[in-house]
Order: sequence, then C-alpha cells, then structure tokens
Amino acid sequence: MKAISIIGSTGSIGESTSAVIDAFPDRFRVVGLAAGSNVEKLAAQIAKFRPRIVSVGTEEALSALGGLVDLSGVDAGFGEEAMVRVATARDASLVVGAAVGAAGLAPTLAAIQAGKDVALANKETLVMAGEIMTREQRERGTKLLPIDSEHCALHQCLVSRDLASVSKLWLTASGGPFRQRDASTFGAITIEEALNHPTWRMGRKITIDSATLMNKALEIIEAHWLFGVPGNRIDVVVHPQSIVHSMVEFVDGTLLAQLGRTDMRMPIQYALSYPEVWATPLQPMDLAAALSLTFEPPDHGRFKSLGLAHQALERGGTTPAAMNAANEVAVQAFLDGEIPFTTITQVVGDVVQGHSRGEATAIGDVLAADRAAREQARNACAALRI
Ligand code: NDP
Repeated sequence: MKAISIIGSTGSIGESTSAVIDAFPDRFRVVGLAAGSNVEKLAAQIAKFRPRIVSVGTEEALSALGGLVDLSGVDAGFGEEAMVRVATARDASLVVGAAVGAAGLAPTLAAIQAGKDVALANKETLVMAGEIMTREQRERGTKLLPIDSEHCALHQCLVSRDLASVSKLWLTASGGPFRQRDASTFGAITIEEALNHPTWRMGRKITIDSATLMNKALEIIEAHWLFGVPGNRIDVVVHPQSIVHSMVEFVDGTLLAQLGRTDMRMPIQYALSYPEVWATPLQPMDLAAALSLTFEPPDHGRFKSLGLAHQALERGGTTPAAMNAANEVAVQAFLDGEIPFTTITQVVGDVVQGHSRGEATAIGDVLAADRAAREQARNACAALRI
C-alpha cells in the first residue's frame, strides 16, 4: 500500500488525486493533506481519509478548520513550515505536488530532500528551481513523476528509449480559448472569457496561463528539466482536440504519440501507480466514433509567451524563476481586474528582458530572483493599471 501526502489537496488536481485514491482503496493510504484556505473541502477530505497530519495557509484557517471537523489525533498546523512537515511526513512514501505557483516550492523540494518520490503537477516549482530539484532527486535516487498530461505523455513515449535517440519533444497545446479570436479584439478580453477553457476544467491560474499560452511556455521549461533535452529541441504544436497529449520525435524519423481522454485522472493514476499499470475505472476512448485530430503551428505573433520561454531557457540561471514570478503577479493583477489581458505577457517580457541573471544552483538565489521579479512586475502592473 502506498502512503501519500497531497500538497494542494483542495484544488482541481488535489480533488482529481483524491478521486484516483478513492478508486483504489486497497492500494493507497492518505497520511498527509496540505491546503490553503478552502477549509470546507479540507474538512471533508479529513473526515474521509483520516490523515495523520494536515496543514492550512493561516492560523485563522486552522481555527475555522477545527470548527468543522474533529482534529483530535491529527497533527494540524498552518503556514509554510507546517506544509513542509506534511510533505516530509515520515510515513509518506509518495508526495503529490499540487499546490499552485511558487507556494509549492518549499514543500516539494523538502519532499525530495527527505527521499520521497514526488508526483508533480506544480510545474512552477520546476521552472523556478529545476536545476536544484533534479540535482537533489538524482543524488537521492528518488522518482520525479510528471502529472502534467503533456509530460506524462512524454514520459510514456520515452520509457525504455535512449535519450540520445531523441531528436525533438513535441508538446501539444489546445491553443486556449483565443486560438481563433481576432488579435485586434484581444484588448477587450474579459476575465470570464479568459477563464472559459475549451477542453480542460482547471484552477484559475493555469486557466489564464492556457489563454496566454504561458502554460505551454512553463511546460517547455518543465520538459527541459524533467527529460534533460535542451530548449531548442522542445517545440509546440497546436492540437485543439487535446487527445494527443504530446509526442517524441526520434532521430530515425519515428514519431511516438500518447493519446487519451481529456481527464487528469489518467495521468494522475499513471504517476501514482508507476511503474505498475492498473486498470482504469474510466471509460476508454471510443475509437469507433468519428474522431478527427488536427495539428497547426502556434501563432507566435499573437502569443509571445513561447518565445519568452525559449529566451529564458537560453539565458538560463535565475531567468526562468524571474519569468515565472512575473507571470504569477501579472495573472493575479489580471484576475483582480487591474490590468488588461494583453499586458500579462508584456509584463512578463519586460521583467525577463530587465532581469540580471544569476546562478540558480542555491535556493536562496532563486528566491531572491523571485522576490526581485515580483517587485518589478508589481511596478509594471501599477503603471499599466486600468
Ligand atoms: P487550484 O487553484 O485548483 O488549486 C491549488 C491548490 O493549492 C489548492 O489546494 C490551494 O488551497 C493550494 N494553495 C494555493 N496557495 C497555497 C498556499 N500559499 N499554501 C498552501 N496551499 C496553497 O490549482 P490546480 O489544481 O488547477 O493546479 C495546481 C498545479 O497543477 C498548478 O501548478 C498547475 O499549473 C498544475 N496543473 C494543473 C492542471 C489541472 O488540470 N488543473 C493540469 C496540469 C498541471 P486552497 O484552495 O485551500 O486555498
């Protein structure tokens, strides 16, 4: 039986993880849950799983949680330190990294350093500190398994393959809600329109990232760290049906693709059961029904994020961390109604151009770059305020 801690248990990935665990009650045991402020959902998860250790974002959230569920016998805390304790719980063998943004870095890194296997959805942590995380993971011989559907697909296409035979990684992108929208109307994009993703139901931050294609930009950097392939051999193709989750091209011209339903429970189950493969409780895809798969190049003129990711990887060091931090600030400013949609990528681009690169081999340097980039992005957003 695998003992699991979930960081970000109340979010979209956290809930899908909980559904996968529910489907295999004899194979998983939840020992730790970490959430932010959604105490109602966390209380329900505590009542169901009876974890030994839990954490929430603040002291107020902890006291609200205590009013909703019996916490006797549960080691319950708040803040980053408590989240790290959930991630490093001695009885957890696998940690699911499903927090959003930089908030997930400390627990994810601590889990790796404590020798846990990590199933990672929280891509921002790899973008920020990929060099450190993969180094620590290699040194400890733990597994770092992607939950992101594209990287799960690449992982499956690469099993038993020699990395030297890979010529290119192809990440597929749905193209987001504005794939066909006239660029001259981008200035009028509303928050509701940007939150209306055509194929995936996800948390708010990644949904906006999908609309700007910044999600794919973060995924380019994530793929670089997960598979050790240089950025100039990682490319993006738009595939609006989101059925082909990604592809690997080999030097002999072979292209391997992974296809599957648009349901995050599939890659989550893959990561949680790895290296075993278990029968899914989900309906398989119906290939007898009409199915058309289309592919088109991304429009770099309208979506500048992909170019930014390649630039950030090329400059390396702390540049990707700065890019990620600027994006987190700009997305929040857009969601708060402070800046227009079109300026999200502009703010990120300005911060990346102005970033003074440092080495990203020590966590202190990464966090300093993150702080500086947030400050620059906040100033840029203030100047652009609607
Ligand atoms: P959500 O916004 O739905 O959930 C985020 C989770 O993180 C919640 O449990 C939230 O807690 C918790 N959280 C946020 N801030 C803090 C904090 N400061 N301290 C502790 N917990 C915190 O996001 P998603 O589930 O959509 O995404 C999670 C990650 O997975 C992201 O990195 C995303 O890019 C990635 N991902 C998501 C996919 C999806 O389909 N959703 C697909 C592939 C990758 P609370 O709600 O209680 O405040």
